[in-house]
Parts: sequence; structure tokens; C-alpha cells
Amino acid sequence: MAASDTHITDVRAILTAPAGIRLVVVRVDTNQPGLYGLGCATFTQRARVVVTAIDEYLKPFLVGKNPFEIEDIWQASFVSSYWRNGPVLNNAISGVDMALWDILGKHAGLPVYRLLGGKCRDAVDTYRHATGETFEEVEESVRGYLEQGYRHVRIQVAVPGASTYGSPTSGGDQSVPPNRRTETWPHGPYARLVPRLFAHVRDSLGDEVELLHDIHERIPPVLATRLCRDLEQFRPFFVEDPLAPEDVGHFDNLRRQTTVPIAMGELFNNPNEWTRLVSERLIDFIRVHLSQVGGLSPARKMAAMCEFFGVRTAWHGPGDVSPVGHAANVHLDLAVPNFGIQEAHGFCQAELDCFPGCPELRDGYFHANDSPGLGIDIDEELAAKFPVTDDPPFDLFWGNIRNPDGTIQKP
Ligand code: MG
Repeated sequence: MAASDTHITDVRAILTAPAGIRLVVVRVDTNQPGLYGLGCATFTQRARVVVTAIDEYLKPFLVGKNPFEIEDIWQASFVSSYWRNGPVLNNAISGVDMALWDILGKHAGLPVYRLLGGKCRDAVDTYRHATGETFEEVEESVRGYLEQGYRHVRIQVAVPGASTYGSPTSGGDQSVPPNRRTETWPHGPYARLVPRLFAHVRDSLGDEVELLHDIHERIPPVLATRLCRDLEQFRPFFVEDPLAPEDVGHFDNLRRQTTVPIAMGELFNNPNEWTRLVSERLIDFIRVHLSQVGGLSPARKMAAMCEFFGVRTAWHGPGDVSPVGHAANVHLDLAVPNFGIQEAHGFCQAELDCFPGCPELRDGYFHANDSPGLGIDIDEELAAKFPVTDDPPFDLFWGNIRNPDGTIQKP
């Protein structure tokens, strides 16, 4: 069938939680027999709202359109709600956008990375997360990753009186009912502890391992600036999200104060949030959540803009990106010259079974398979055996972290 005779026949969201994390995947069907695509629309904290945006609004808007007109469909979908640039609608659009790239690749018989310009590298270097209650536990976790061949490890340690940093599933004091549970996050002790963690890991493991850290935008800008300066002597590969999106005006000052490489962006929705940071060279790595910014189409433009300003990519990639989203990350990582690093997630067996064709992790590198499109599928019958649940402790973590005096903190 000619490309011009092809049209979209169905758009639907699929919810599944094979690893206990709610994932939203979009399937777009066409009138070409067997030609369909998958995309990631995972906004795990508000999954059902994204499903409504896809099934109730995007589907009727898109059925009948030509799936090969990817850019036009993106632009039309973007303004179809009039109000735009929010996480729900961006994720919904991303699900469709990635699915259309997948469809184009399958139709052309080419993997998506070739549609994006072809491979700039053989495989995608990644980093993993080492966490622990003590410095020794973190060190042990780093050693485990080094033994598996990783070269880059993010290190986070529990702050006395608070949970293990970066572990939202910890859920706070288990003896307290979930809807009353809060966690305390003391700024000062955290900012004093992290340089000691870096000193410990450098002393134990030497200079060669690349260490990363995520401030997770939890501390006031001036304290984040001081923490970056304190970490400088330990040569971190990057420090992530030192400032909240609301505080991006502080990047100028942060940049003047330290040479620590800065990675930023997993909460960004709107191009106005990152373009100045890139064009004024205030950050070193852009690390948005691909579905949060609207999918592959806007992300490839973002990567191209960053290339001209010496900013590298480090797309968000923990467990709340679906395997389809990880595949999209990897295809883009392979094709952009200014790739920096990829945050990786080790898929559990249920994820591997539900999503045949997951990118493969070997020696710390993600490898895409060379199947046409994104190279990944979903076994819907199996995925249905892992239904999403509402109100797990995961949800109760965000919005329940407070300063010792009871003030709500930005996560
Ligand atoms: Mg992060």
C-alpha cells in the first residue's frame, strides 16, 4: 500500500505495571495490515489522566490522518488543546509521536536510529544508581556495578533521619498510615554529608570511576551552589538537578561559582525553560524525560540545538520510563553526535517478558536491536496480568517531604 493511502485507524493507551510502576504505552494502528507503532506516554504519578487525554481527545483528533506526516501531526496535536506545554498533554502527544516514528521505521524497514541520521556510536554508555544507608553500603553497590562493567555510577546515601535519597518507594515510617506519612529532609545535614560520601568513595575506589549525584532540586539555590563547589574537588561526572525549574534564574550565579558539570531538566515541559540555559551555556547536560517534552520529535530538535552550544544529552531513564521509552532514548542516543550519557534501568523479568525487544544492557552499554522501527513490542495479554494499582506508597512520597519545621519541600 502506498504511503499516501495509509491512515490512522486507532489510537489507544495501554496501562501496565510489570515492575510495580505504572507505565502508559500508546499503540497507533493503521489501515496497512500489521502496521502499528508503540510510544511511551508514561507520567506515572498521573497515569490515568494521560490515558484520558489519549483515548478521549487525541484518538478522535487523529483517526484518518496520515501516520507518515509525523511533524504535522505533532504540531497539530500540540495546539489541539489550545492550552499546552503541560506534562499530561505532552506525554499523550509523546505516546503518539514515538508510535509514528516506530510506524515509519517499520514501513521503511529501518531502525529508528537510521531515520534519525544513522549511528554515531556502536552502543550507548550508561550509568546506574548506587544507594545505601551508609557510605560502606554505597561503596559496595558501586563495586557491584563496576564488576558488571559500568564506568559511571550515581551515588546517593541516606541522610540520618530521612529516607535513602532517591528512593521514593521507601515511603517513610511504615508504622504510620500511608495518608499521614511524611518524611523529613534536613537541608544542612544533607549538604554536609554528600561531600563526605564522595570523599569516602574516591578514597576507596580511586579516580577512574565516574561518579554522579542527583541533588533532586531539594535544597535552596545558594546551598546547592555551595554543595557543587564542595564536590568540585572530587571531579563528579555531573551533578544533576541542582535547582528547581522555578529557580532557573540562579544558574548564572551557579555557573560563575563552580566548574562542576551541571545536568538539568527532568521536570522541564516547555522550551522556554531550557533554551536560555543552553544558548548561554549555563548547563553541560540536558536530561529531559522524553515523553514529558512531547516525544522524539521535540527531543531530536533539542539535541540539535544543544550540539551547537556544546551541551550533551543525558536523557532521563529510570524505571518510570516504559521499555518503549527506553528504546526511544537509545535510538536517539545512537544518532546524535553530542550524546553524553544515558541513565539506565535494569529491566526485571516481567518487563522483559511484556516488552519483547527491550534494549539490552551489556558491559554498561545499552544496545538497540536492529529490527525496523523502535524494535520493541508489547505482549498485551501478559501486560494485562500486571494491572496498575492506585494509591501505592510511591504516590504518597511526592508532596509529603517536609523540612524539620513542617514546611513542604520541592522534591
Ligand atoms: Mg533525577
